[in-house]
Amino acid sequence: MPAFPTIKLQNGVEMPIIGLGTWQSTDDDVRKAVEVAVAEANYPLIDTAEIYQNEEVIGNILHKLISEGKIKREDVFITTKLWTHNLNPARSLEAARECLKRLQLEKVDLLLCHMPASFDVGGTEHEKDVTVEDVWRGMETIYDAGLARAIGVSNWSVEQVERVMKTAKVPIHNVQNELYLYWPQHELAEACKKHGISITSYGSLGSPGRVNFTLPTGQKLDWASAPNALEDPKVKELAEKYKKSPAQVLLRYVIERGIAVIPKSVTPSRIHENLNVFDFKLTQEEVKALDAVSHRQRLFLQPFMEGHPEDPFKSERV
Ligand code: NAP
Repeated sequence: MPAFPTIKLQNGVEMPIIGLGTWQSTDDDVRKAVEVAVAEANYPLIDTAEIYQNEEVIGNILHKLISEGKIKREDVFITTKLWTHNLNPARSLEAARECLKRLQLEKVDLLLCHMPASFDVGGTEHEKDVTVEDVWRGMETIYDAGLARAIGVSNWSVEQVERVMKTAKVPIHNVQNELYLYWPQHELAEACKKHGISITSYGSLGSPGRVNFTLPTGQKLDWASAPNALEDPKVKELAEKYKKSPAQVLLRYVIERGIAVIPKSVTPSRIHENLNVFDFKLTQEEVKALDAVSHRQRLFLQPFMEGHPEDPFKSERV
């Protein structure tokens, strides 16, 4: 299989710089998307999460492809995430075991805590006394138990990352946060560089397909509307110059910064298109020009964490 560039995590694990996102797709769409991505296009990484409710479908299709000899387990790096009701260190180890069962894996390649704010078992009440330091202690236990080759965080603020790095026995290996043309996260990138933490961008295409979402608990997640990054004039100009698509330019913008991408698609032609970004490069000047695009827009403010002491976005809420 073709080798894609990787990012070396602090513990030596090599994480592919590109993978397939799987959020907000039906079971059937995910099954087909993962099959096309892994068995046809050779995607080296699949990103899922407990809350996407598709770990079982992904586990089944991967198991089938491995049994048929079409892929080997080690060909695909699997990332999953613990949802908010499983962040409490009293529950996270067992929750990680449940993820592995659904994925039919002995070990996941990267396990993230999906948010910094812990909720009760029912998923509705804030556990205000559980700090990010507590959450991280649970993640370290999972790592020490050998259930994940690497561990990390998602949707944590720079301040939370800094705080945990002061006491962590196992460093944060990866931060997965919203990061795209209109939310470039330079401060986060600086902090992670300082600590040797790798970053994964989600929403690298500006998440054009996101629709408001209701969690199984009934909590609503609504997203800000925003201009479409795929239509940005500078992106379109570079797409024309390199004879690539705007999506490929948006992905390359992130990759040039040494940050991993996990574009989601259930459309076979786009699944192939999004992986086909290693035959061109943007110059440093072009990356700077994209950095200088003046519009700024965070898409994912995750309102359900509002009022929790570990709400990572409290300073951004109006
Ligand atoms: P995204 O990857 O920026 O955008 C996905 C959308 O773009 C889909 O609607 C897809 O449509 C469309 N698309 C894909 N390729 C395209 C192309 N080449 N040209 C035009 N449109 C294209 O957004 P995302 O799904 O929000 O983020 C990516 C992944 O990151 C998620 O799937 C998930 O795995 C992860 N994520 C993590 C978090 C977190 O809290 N950690 C939050 C959000 C997302 P089709 O599918 O119809 O082709």
